[in-house]
Amino acid sequence: MKHRGQFTRSERSARSQLAKLVHEQPLLCGSLVSLHRVCGKEGCKCGRGELHPGLCVALRVGEKRKMIYVPQALEATARRWVNTYQKAWYLMEEISRASLDRFLKGKEKVREARKAKTEERRSHG
Ligand SMILES: [Zn+2]
Repeated sequence: MKHRGQFTRSERSARSQLAKLVHEQPLLCGSLVSLHRVCGKEGCKCGRGELHPGLCVALRVGEKRKMIYVPQALEATARRWVNTYQKAWYLMEEISRASLDRFLKGKEKVREARKAKTEERRSHG
């Protein structure tokens, strides 16, 4: 592909890692929150203050922020999916940094072109 030449090696690597990640893995755009909770069963130790450790995923669904409880059987899954999101986020940041460099170079070019035009006009007028 012709346009690939504009990417540095590290940006190209970030792009292909990101593509592979989002192509192959589920992800949750949230963070994990540990908590201690009361189960509500009568006579349970949590009623006497020995709370149950638990895990939630805090995330936004549309406009709303949600805390979704993670059952123990799904803890590893939740951790993996949130972790995939974090990896994707870091890769996006890397690509954004490289894109910003490119954008600033473009801006510089626009400024130089404008300056050249002004000088040209001055020399004619
Ligand atoms: Zn309990």
